[in-house]
Amino acid sequence: MISKKLTSKAGITVPKSIRADLGWKPGMAVDMIPLEDGSLKIRPHIDQCRFCGTHESVKRYKDICLCPECAAKMKEAV
Ligand SMILES: [Zn+2]
Repeated sequence: MISKKLTSKAGITVPKSIRADLGWKPGMAVDMIPLEDGSLKIRPHIDQCRFCGTHESVKRYKDICLCPECAAKMKEAV
């Protein structure tokens, strides 16, 4: 475990040794997930349907990620 302080702008740099172990590269997208115990989970970004939250078969259209089921429901509604 490595302890660090947040910067004056509440930023944090993931230490090089941890990045190397995880295979994380500068500029890669990450998801930040606050947990109930006050901790923060950070993982490589995974596209997730904006409407139902699934990760299955998610497609990106412009800045919106959605699954085939929600796309079909949206098509019916429009
Ligand atoms: Zn969906």
